[in-house]
Amino acid sequence: MARVYNFSTGPAVLPEEVLKEAADEMLDYKGTGMSVMEMSHRSKAYQAIIDEAEADLRELMNIPDNYKVLFLQGGASQQFAMIPMNLMKNKVADYIVTGQWAKKAYQEACIYGKANKIASSEDKTFSYIPDCSDLPISEDADYVYICENNTIYGTKFKTLPNTKGKTLVADVSSCFLSEPVDVTKYGVIYGGVQKNIGPAGVVIVIIREDLITEDTLPGTPTMLKYKIHADNGSMYNTPPAYGIYICGKVFKWIKKMGGLTAMKERNEAKAKVLYDFLDQSKLFKGTVRKEDRSLMNVPFVTGNEELDAKFVKEATAAGFVNLKGHRTVGGMRASIYNAMPIEGVQKLVEFMKKFEEENA
Ligand SMILES: *Cc1c(COP(=O)(O)O)cnc(C)c1O
Repeated sequence: MARVYNFSTGPAVLPEEVLKEAADEMLDYKGTGMSVMEMSHRSKAYQAIIDEAEADLRELMNIPDNYKVLFLQGGASQQFAMIPMNLMKNKVADYIVTGQWAKKAYQEACIYGKANKIASSEDKTFSYIPDCSDLPISEDADYVYICENNTIYGTKFKTLPNTKGKTLVADVSSCFLSEPVDVTKYGVIYGGVQKNIGPAGVVIVIIREDLITEDTLPGTPTMLKYKIHADNGSMYNTPPAYGIYICGKVFKWIKKMGGLTAMKERNEAKAKVLYDFLDQSKLFKGTVRKEDRSLMNVPFVTGNEELDAKFVKEATAAGFVNLKGHRTVGGMRASIYNAMPIEGVQKLVEFMKKFEEENA
């Protein structure tokens, strides 16, 4: 059995250690005689798993006590609706549209109230982050919404927008736990875990307590109220139990690796290997404005579709898989999440060099 270098955008690479541990515990979790998959979520053993996962996440992100951590389902996409349903008290929200995910969130919010697109980078295929230092924030906006790392386009907010005192809501699906964050700057931080943390099926929502109220939009289903999940410790109904268990293992792995500061250094070192190569390559080019480059998702092109396809094919055969770019950008995209070792990126660059020589 050989493991490949998996550059998938999501579901994506997980730390090998975590997978091995999960395999060891598959048939008998800590003497319970059963798999975590087979366990009641109301059992003592499972309560310890979810409590520990939350405690480790709180420690890693330094989450203040006045924020709740919720483990939910429905993916990041369900949050596109849950956010307006729970937060739109004035039925007004401002959206900064820096990619497809932000656009989908904006379109969803339009169903529930007056969503304003206050900035966008769609004019240049979302290849940059607009200047957000002095935007026309609506006076009665319930929140300002961003997608902090744009998975498809490979851009990242290096400074948060000036929300002029309004609550900031951020989709961090593809940069979750990639670097330290100041949670106090946000009202809501959320993300699907299948990009940088765990298996698909879990979405983590970190939300300031004053934003959790009974006062949701009329018709909001019980399952889409933050309050019901907060009041029930994410166990109003059966949670995505096994997924949360794997997330917990990844939190422990990140702690062991040195926490988020160490993750950031590691991610910067990895991204540098690839970006430095792209910046001097005669064949491959990055598609993103340099100052807005993501540490997690790196799109690049040769400028020739046939050559792109040839590269993806040969890379796959050499064990570098899932490099095909999103259809709206074309070319290639390497997602180099926390769990991708630096050797994976170094070897990819060696392969790219060789391909460049052969196809000059
Ligand atoms: C993948 C992704 C989503 C969609 O996630 P689902 O869990 O499939 O709903 C939303 N936002 C961002 C930034 C993503 O990368």
